[in-house]
Amino acid sequence: MEWEIVMGLEVHVELATKSKIFCKCSTEFGGTPNTRCCPICTGMPGTLPILNRQVLEYAVRAGLALNCEITKYNKFDRKNYFYPDLPKAYQISQLYLPFAQNGYVDLKTDSGREVTIRIHEIHMEEDAGKLVHSMFGDTTYPDYNRCGVPLIEIVSEPDFRETEEVIAYLSKLKSQFEYLGISDCRMEEGSMRADVNLSVRPKGSTKFGIRTEMKNINSFKSIERAIAFESKRQIALLEAGESVVQETRRWDENKEKTFAMRSKENAQDYRYFPEPDIPPISITDEEIQHYIGICPEFADEKVKRFVSEFGLAQKDAEIIAASKYLAKLFEETVANSGDAAETRYWMISEVLYFMNAKNIRPEDITLSSDKFAEFVKIVKAGYINRKVGRQVFEAMFFGGETFDVNEYIKEHGLEQIDDRAQIEEAVQSILDANPQIVEQYKAGQTKLKAYFVGQSMKLLKGKANPLTVNEVLNEKLK
Ligand SMILES: [Zn+2]
Repeated sequence: MEWEIVMGLEVHVELATKSKIFCKCSTEFGGTPNTRCCPICTGMPGTLPILNRQVLEYAVRAGLALNCEITKYNKFDRKNYFYPDLPKAYQISQLYLPFAQNGYVDLKTDSGREVTIRIHEIHMEEDAGKLVHSMFGDTTYPDYNRCGVPLIEIVSEPDFRETEEVIAYLSKLKSQFEYLGISDCRMEEGSMRADVNLSVRPKGSTKFGIRTEMKNINSFKSIERAIAFESKRQIALLEAGESVVQETRRWDENKEKTFAMRSKENAQDYRYFPEPDIPPISITDEEIQHYIGICPEFADEKVKRFVSEFGLAQKDAEIIAASKYLAKLFEETVANSGDAAETRYWMISEVLYFMNAKNIRPEDITLSSDKFAEFVKIVKAGYINRKVGRQVFEAMFFGGETFDVNEYIKEHGLEQIDDRAQIEEAVQSILDANPQIVEQYKAGQTKLKAYFVGQSMKLLKGKANPLTVNEVLNEKLK
């Protein structure tokens, strides 16, 4: 039988406000345990939480970016449960009137398919603390620094059928929120966490199967593996005539398996009730209009503009525009150098290469657009050729603020040789040393020209203007 995988995602995103959602404690990642918390975020009796307006602004702007209807009158609820990382034994969240509902995201997957994923709702809530397990295995220490860090939880409809849709969705959320400046969405630091609800059903069926939920998977790679494992596990159960149990399962990255954690809970298990300490929130039409007005240009629009304005290929434009930081570096370099084609060449061939090779995040690139533009101009003016340019680019990319492109080229004697007499001499000596190959060339094996180009360039230490070398060869081989 052919099976279909059905998935829905719950994505938690930490909002990048300076202070927490209901108090003034810092939200900064890390820190000595239990130094960034206070009686409010640890829920001491008698304290009063007050909503940070910046959280509301970031949340509403996220909702608008995902095409949601904003719930103009919304409110907080208490979700009651005990866990050692939650000192007040309840979480302030939104159940009955979440601030955003009925949105959608248009996606393009890696294989080029276009898919629309519907968003059921987005709600605001506070994060819990963290449990740090002792290396010796006998003690657990609670760290409450993360208690009260603002989160939005984005709940999709069960619209995903393929892993690549899940990856495209998470990438798009990251890109949108980065452009908005409301979160850095770093899965490895936990500022974006995805829960995957997954069930399988015979292909063609319209009824949903029984689903399991996999919690807090923290990288794209783990998500791919977890989906592959869990879908196979469920299909094997059903094919053996058994049934899937509705439960929450933990993905173990090392064992590459999912394990049952607890039976799936329902809303009534949490005894939700309206949060009595925080008044309902109202959002006006004026505020919504204002947020729409200050919405930045997102990746999709940038791609269109990069193609029409700078003549980029669709795929190149998509790669660059997906990251706010790459797009900024590209656009500013083009503005400063006046050369989009040459800038694109170095972005795609070198910047992306070093990012992949050295695992550098776009936001951590230290190369400034000023330096990059200077480099582009130097190449365009013919002071160095592209071959030597690669060496210079690498030194510049890792060279930091004090790196001087011109000085580096002079110091290493890398200026392009465009002296015709010198090039003619070199080319002639190569032809003289290879009379047989010259004959083969003249007999019709024109591909051999590349050999002469290579040898001549080598003799000139890679610094010759390749156009001049070609010209000279054409003349001499006539
Ligand atoms: Zn606090």
